[in-house]
Amino acid sequence: MIQKPRGTIDILPGESEVWQWVEKTIKETADLYGYSEIRLPTFESSELYKRGVGETSDVVQKEMYSFEDNDRRSITLRPEGTAGVVRSVIENSLATGVMPLSLYYLISCFRYEKPEAGRSREFYQFGVEQFGAQNPAADANVISLGYDIFKNLGLNVSLEINSIGCRHCRPKYHKALHDYFDNCREDLCDTCLDRLNKNPLRILDCKSPVCSALAEKAPKTVDYLCPECAAHMEELKKYLDAAGIKYTVNPKIVRGLDYYQRTVFEFISEDIGSKSTICGGGRYDGLVEELGGPKLSGIGFAMGLTRVMLALKATDKLPEISNSPALYIASMGDNARLKSFEMSLALKKHGINASFDQVGRSLKAQMKYADKTGARFSCVLGDSELEAGKATLKNMSTGESQEIDIADVENIAKLVK
Ligand code: ATP
Ligand code: MG
Repeated sequence: MIQKPRGTIDILPGESEVWQWVEKTIKETADLYGYSEIRLPTFESSELYKRGVGETSDVVQKEMYSFEDNDRRSITLRPEGTAGVVRSVIENSLATGVMPLSLYYLISCFRYEKPEAGRSREFYQFGVEQFGAQNPAADANVISLGYDIFKNLGLNVSLEINSIGCRHCRPKYHKALHDYFDNCREDLCDTCLDRLNKNPLRILDCKSPVCSALAEKAPKTVDYLCPECAAHMEELKKYLDAAGIKYTVNPKIVRGLDYYQRTVFEFISEDIGSKSTICGGGRYDGLVEELGGPKLSGIGFAMGLTRVMLALKATDKLPEISNSPALYIASMGDNARLKSFEMSLALKKHGINASFDQVGRSLKAQMKYADKTGARFSCVLGDSELEAGKATLKNMSTGESQEIDIADVENIAKLVK
């Protein structure tokens, strides 16, 4: 038997309805913030991610699904959404219209990782990117969108923020970090040893217990910010306070991807057993230029929907969603089945999910089926009902019944709604 590839998931009926509810809740919240959806290719040229995500990131170093296509072009399955959005904004000159430009996406991403709870090789993300707004108000507004989504989904999260400075203040910080980690280089993992010279900031994000323990005592970005970056962070805090959004400053947050500057933040789920990042984001003012576009600031976040689902399951807050028919029209004989088909179609025009026998079951088996599918009402059509033009509508849970006019579909629709 052929099985699905390691690290992928099948989303089956029963669960897919919950995914749809999550996506609908997210989209409705994003609408309130004036975001528009952007849909992009599932694969891009590998070069985009190398430049856009950063050569020293885990994603580019170890996790990309890259291959040569038949024309010997290096192609990579999308490991994240931001680089593709920036590519599209530049390629389609989207930043020439009304600014700021506010975009969102619902996508699947691919990363070659060790699968575990909340970590798969194909996973789902909701993400937003906003271009052309540099004020800390934009940072707060984006964070507030994430916050509202979690609130609307009924999930408990805590917000952690940090600032990782800018081009001007980061070199001084890099040097301080480099000097600190250089003193304990024997203890660093091989990857971090390599990062020490290329990008010591990355070491703060390493998941190995030894590196992570060393990172605890490392110099903090917030102590090295230039006056502009420090002011930006103080303003952001003011805006978050005004929104009533609680946060803590966590100096260890640097984000897994290379392109961030100034504000970085994570929402941590309080519902999933171990401390888990369910959404991460930040400001990336240099990225558009880095990818060959105009000088244009950007900020965004990506929310892991696989982890949102885990959290929902853990809180037992799954919404009651049912696709049960409102009415099951049982039939006896071919004429009656034809009529039940017509009736079901007519009822659909009134927005009623009405089902009928498509299998050719006995009446007893049909009623059993109606029960199994959770139909709220049923009626039976036979030769005598067709002749009289009347049938009996039965409420499946109370057993109450009443006579209906088969031709009066509008009335039937009202009764079963
Ligand atoms: P982590 O530290 O958990 O590896 P990350 O920093 O690599 O996360 P991002 O690139 O910021 O994650 O992606 C944003 C969100 O996407 C994460 O917060 C997480 O919820 C989700 N995510 C990332 N990788 C995976 C994965 N392999 N499987 C499921 N969800 C993921
Ligand atoms: Mg990761």
